[in-house]
Amino acid sequence: MSFSELGLIPEILQAVTEAGYNEPTPIQRQAIPVVLAGHDVMGGAQTGTGKTAGFTLPLLNRLARHASASTSPARHPVRALILAPTRELAMQVFESVKMYSKHLPLRSTCIYGGVDMNPQIQELRRGIEIVVATPGRLLDHVQQKTIALNQVEFLILDEADRMLDMGFIPDIRRILALLPANRQSLLFSATFSDEIKKLADQMLKSPQLIEVARRNMVSDTISHVVHPVSSGLKRNLLAHLIRHEEESNQILVFVDTKFACSRLAHFLDRHGISADAIHGDKSQQARTETLESFKSGKVRVLVATDVAARGLDIEDLPSVINFELPHTAEDYVHRIGRTGRAGKKGKAVSLVSAEERHRLADIQKLIKLEITQEIVPGFDPEPDFLEGEGSRRRRNDSAPAKPAPRPAGETSNASDRRSRRPEREQREAPRSRRPGHIASDGFDFSKPYEQKTGIKLDDGIAAGQTASAPHKPQRPIAFLLGGLGRKAS
Ligand code: AMP
Repeated sequence: MSFSELGLIPEILQAVTEAGYNEPTPIQRQAIPVVLAGHDVMGGAQTGTGKTAGFTLPLLNRLARHASASTSPARHPVRALILAPTRELAMQVFESVKMYSKHLPLRSTCIYGGVDMNPQIQELRRGIEIVVATPGRLLDHVQQKTIALNQVEFLILDEADRMLDMGFIPDIRRILALLPANRQSLLFSATFSDEIKKLADQMLKSPQLIEVARRNMVSDTISHVVHPVSSGLKRNLLAHLIRHEEESNQILVFVDTKFACSRLAHFLDRHGISADAIHGDKSQQARTETLESFKSGKVRVLVATDVAARGLDIEDLPSVINFELPHTAEDYVHRIGRTGRAGKKGKAVSLVSAEERHRLADIQKLIKLEITQEIVPGFDPEPDFLEGEGSRRRRNDSAPAKPAPRPAGETSNASDRRSRRPEREQREAPRSRRPGHIASDGFDFSKPYEQKTGIKLDDGIAAGQTASAPHKPQRPIAFLLGGLGRKAS
């Protein structure tokens, strides 16, 4: 299928061609006709699937119909509001909006916190149709009466689950109360927790559910390896592995907590490996600078938490290292999706201590792959790692036989393990207690994975195909997602 078959106007098709896209991605194929037809949408898709163009292209198409050529700011009210959880994501979305709207007489801007409001106020005064915003700063403008939202026709809530993680849902509810009831709304989220369903129920009218296959299917250009290692030796092993990588290779390292994130980056820096950390406690300014240093190659290693790394548009990397395995197997897939893109070769390396064995089992079940285990000589795992373990473990004899010297001041395994305990209590996103095989969105890893290209609706038509196919009216989304007992309003 080509973009021209989706019913987009020539100005948008031209921008898409100039962006170098040959054909729509699955989420675009599903979402574009549904949004063009004026339906509300609940979209299950992550960054990297092309979801931004999936909602921006049809949005621009709909806005273009009544675009005003007038120079008067009053003729350019805010008609579309796109909410994103972080400044980085808002900026990425804004860049896409600018790119796809470059042949249209539509004005757009991006407003986010942590910077002076005045330039944003000047910009808003010009009259802007499309505002991409983070919720807090948008409310600041509302309070100062520097933005009016009473003519908003389109609302897009991007990464709703992350909004929830970051505590933005009350702000979102406040913003919803300021918008006209008669509007088209789209909500995108990687997971559908009860809170998200509740929000969707409040915000969307008879939405169509669109979901692209979970990216559980990992690219086969990625090679996976697990290094069983005791937790106290992990940092030294990490430094050792990085030193044995090509000097020019940049590496993204994932950790569980903000605290571990900064500490690990300092550790690497102290040992001659240029590294920086990105996590939710850093200011927007610091996060942007860190990301830019990494993208420009000034910093070789970026240590990140899952929450901070989500939504970051980091180019393809030759390798990703999991300093700790993630708590949910799906996050493993997200993490390693930063490597091995577009047919390139990638390496996913995980340092796994005995207490993480069950996470490894969940991951292997999800990706349907028994990952090769290699003990790097001198970096042995805890003795209990070996109990009842599988057969694919081998010693990595190509690595130097001597352990890297333990830097001065390093603690022993046992004390390191003890000192790590409080870090785990500082996870970025609160996680509910649930059995290990149940993900935050209720996905059950103990069941075999089935690839989905769309959720079957009650009329048996895959969601997203409904605009071109006749269909019965959709049931309220809450019903589709398990029932909340409240009708969408
Ligand atoms: P997103 O999931 O929206 O963050 O998009 C991820 C990346 O895919 C961005 O760099 C887009 O420029 C790119 N992209 C979006 N749609 C397409 C397409 N149809 N073909 C190729 N690349 C695309």
